[in-house]
Amino acid sequence: MNYAKNILETIGNTPLVQLNKIVKDLPCKVFAKVEYFNPGHSCKDRMALQMVEDAEADGRLKPDGTIIEGTSGNTGMGLALAAIVKGYKLICVITDKQSKEKMDILRAVGAKVVVCPTDVEPTDPRSYYSVSKRLAEETPNSWYVNQYDNPSNAKANYEQTGPEIWDQTNGEITHFIVGVGTGGTISGVGKYLKEQKPDVKIWGVDTYGSVFKKYHETGIFDENEVYSYVTEGIGEDILPKNVDFSVIDHFTKVTDKDAAVFCRKLALEEGIFVGMSSGSAIKGLLQMKDQLKPTDVVVVLFHDSGSRYIGKIFNDDWMRERGYLEEEIVTAHDLIKN
Ligand code: PMP
Repeated sequence: MNYAKNILETIGNTPLVQLNKIVKDLPCKVFAKVEYFNPGHSCKDRMALQMVEDAEADGRLKPDGTIIEGTSGNTGMGLALAAIVKGYKLICVITDKQSKEKMDILRAVGAKVVVCPTDVEPTDPRSYYSVSKRLAEETPNSWYVNQYDNPSNAKANYEQTGPEIWDQTNGEITHFIVGVGTGGTISGVGKYLKEQKPDVKIWGVDTYGSVFKKYHETGIFDENEVYSYVTEGIGEDILPKNVDFSVIDHFTKVTDKDAAVFCRKLALEEGIFVGMSSGSAIKGLLQMKDQLKPTDVVVVLFHDSGSRYIGKIFNDDWMRERGYLEEEIVTAHDLIKN
């Protein structure tokens, strides 16, 4: 028999898929590392399991313990799978900006979900950073994961995602591009790839409303760069320890509208049904067109599945309310009039 002993054993070894129509204006080959093939439907399953196993190994997480994390959903899903298989409780602290689907999914896999306001300073006692920390202090036998500063996050991508991409491209990769949130993906994959081939280019995709690009270019943490935005999973108003700016060659910023529009294009043109940060990643790559030549081999990483965003990007009313969808709905009434 050929089977996995539990769901955690199915994490990783996701496919690399060539992109065709959406990259027709680029001179080179482009491949997508499609991370929704993980059991929790995102890349974050990898780092969630790594963080849990490293915490078990050094005694931070003890039997019957409660795992506590501030998570936009995908890390929570990964932690939930690990908690179920290994027998822990899980509390996820989430902001009210996150999609309802993400909250419902977390509850479905047994997590307790605490919702905090988005538009408050990180130091505000109501912020999801502060609430997670406070819950961790008040809950007996608990472990606060802190994916932003937890080195196991980048380590999982250094040990798994990076080598997978290297092997799948037979070492021919010349550029890696991905959205940046905690920084675990870009830093782990980027470090591994640069160790194999120092001239591989590592490009980060940031959002408007986030500090990364400006900080990378000037070394200045500019609070004026911070304002609320819609894209989920990428961009920050803090500098997480997991962002290793030294392996990143360039940041490009993508608007919320472009992220949503290109997310829809990926579904329609490639049949790849992914979340909004993947729309940012592909649009970010197209913005870098002038930097690419025919012999280049690009890998773009798609973090999660579009199913988490049915009520948002894949909902015409939601798109139209934000001015992301320009064409009007044709009603039966209009047809009769014309
Ligand atoms: N996209 C999505 C949907 C995510 O959940 C995350 C994780 N925050 C990212 C991109 C960014 O990945 P990382 O945290 O490793 O930088």
